[in-house]
Amino acid sequence: MKKLIVLFLILTIAPSGFAGIVKKTIPDKLVVLTFDDATASQYSVVAPLLKEFGFGATFFVCEFPPNFTDTTKYMNWRQIRELDRMGFEIANHTRSHPAVNKLSAEKFKEQLGYIERKCDSMGIARPTSFAYPGYSLSLPVMNVLQEKGYRFARAGGSRTYEPLIDHPLLIPSWAMNSENRKQIMEAFEEAHDGEIVVLTIHGVPDAEHPWVNTPPELFKEYLQYLSDNGYTVIALRDLSKYIRASRAMKTIIPDLSKKLKN
Ligand SMILES: [Zn+2]
Repeated sequence: MKKLIVLFLILTIAPSGFAGIVKKTIPDKLVVLTFDDATASQYSVVAPLLKEFGFGATFFVCEFPPNFTDTTKYMNWRQIRELDRMGFEIANHTRSHPAVNKLSAEKFKEQLGYIERKCDSMGIARPTSFAYPGYSLSLPVMNVLQEKGYRFARAGGSRTYEPLIDHPLLIPSWAMNSENRKQIMEAFEEAHDGEIVVLTIHGVPDAEHPWVNTPPELFKEYLQYLSDNGYTVIALRDLSKYIRASRAMKTIIPDLSKKLKN
């Protein structure tokens, strides 16, 4: 009898649960661009280029210590607001970029809440996407994100996002740097049959953190390639067009044993 009940559950609830995750067919060649740490070049170089190509993107902002107030290195909040006005997504990367898996729930909520209040005071839409600083992940952190209404959270892992398998608060991504052109070009080829390619990008260029520098010429080459080859390039929040995150959170068990760091 027990076996029959289990079989019944598998045949009824599971398929409908998974079916409900995808609300609209995920097109091939779907790429999500995300930019971390609010570096100055994201305002001066990245945003104008993205506009030129008509691409969407997410900017995961924080007040990166110790030089956030140095506007030669980081965006100020007026510039961040300008990105919002330009139609880009402003999302939460915590106030001061700590390893969030080491924080109490209360401290983590303070880190999240600071960026939410800052956005509110600047007239920027409330963030619904999150990126883990330094890929510091944990179930308690995910629980807070879910409780606070976050829909998508980006990790690492250098693999595609598969909406029927990956939890929406554990979205894998590739990180761009000056040395991994081959890896990034190969990643683009994997965006098909429901698999989505998400990229983590820092400064273009990034003098403050040279290990995650993307030279502007290389960045332009990627954008040109995506444009010439008919890719759809969107912000993380735009995944809501295709994916019911709330359903995915109920259906998919978070698996932290998978590769989720870059
Ligand atoms: Zn970061």
